[in-house]
Amino acid sequence: MLKPTVIAIPFFALMIAIEAYLVIREDREKFDKWDTWNNVLIGFVSVAFGSLIAIVTANFYLWAYEIAPFRMPMDTWWPWVILVLADDFAYYWFHRFSHEMRFLWNFHVVHHSSEEYNLSVAVRQSWFGGAVHWAFYIPLAFLGFPFAAFVFVHGINLIYQFWIHTKLITRLGPLEWVFNTPSHHRVHHGVNDEYLDKNYAGIFIIWDRMFGTFVEEREEVKYGIIKPINSYNSVWINTHGWFEMAEAMRNSKGFWNKLRCIFGSPNMDHKAGETVNVGLESPEHV
Ligand SMILES: [Zn+2]
Ligand SMILES: [Zn+2]
Repeated sequence: MLKPTVIAIPFFALMIAIEAYLVIREDREKFDKWDTWNNVLIGFVSVAFGSLIAIVTANFYLWAYEIAPFRMPMDTWWPWVILVLADDFAYYWFHRFSHEMRFLWNFHVVHHSSEEYNLSVAVRQSWFGGAVHWAFYIPLAFLGFPFAAFVFVHGINLIYQFWIHTKLITRLGPLEWVFNTPSHHRVHHGVNDEYLDKNYAGIFIIWDRMFGTFVEEREEVKYGIIKPINSYNSVWINTHGWFEMAEAMRNSKGFWNKLRCIFGSPNMDHKAGETVNVGLESPEHV
């Protein structure tokens, strides 16, 4: 079965090229050619690896659907509306956990590690994220949504998220209330203190407004991750999180602290760094 995201590839390529042309026309200095090509390469490999991983993980969805207590009638309109909302709700939590738990962040960090912000960043996705992604969508199978309907609607969700990765669209008026927009998602990619871990939305920003993670774009966004990766090596970009996690585990004392390195916030080092800086005045805390 061809996924909507695979069909969208030529459209994505065209839009990336048009945006690059517009940015370069304005100011060549503003365009990091190698970052863009790297994003495209990472995107292609993630589609290939993602498809391989899905050969296994699709079965988890199918098994859950087999034992679901009821089946949604997909020949009428209302289950499709519920599916679009439920899929987006699941995405919100998958995305939020991907920022709040270090072992999930090790996958998602790939998407955030570019310091640029343009359409090519949308396709800069983890090569191995498919290994964990499925778990957040199993509830949809239990709700009785057939696999093909899920793949279709989830594909639309991911395609939606493509166009919001641009600086060229500023604000969209009342649409900003309900939908995730370029402005809201720029905030999500920001490492400014007030922007960290905000605006997790897929299509609808309503989840962030409901669960207290919404922040409006006010000051200029500084893009990237707290500790810049400074590398175009796509293998390193996809794996560095695991090495850093292992090092954090080695450096932390006690079983629970080591466990926190896996399941705690990936910002813990950042926060710990602040504590160390504060403690510098009193040597016994260093
Ligand atoms: Zn994110
Ligand atoms: Zn993004």
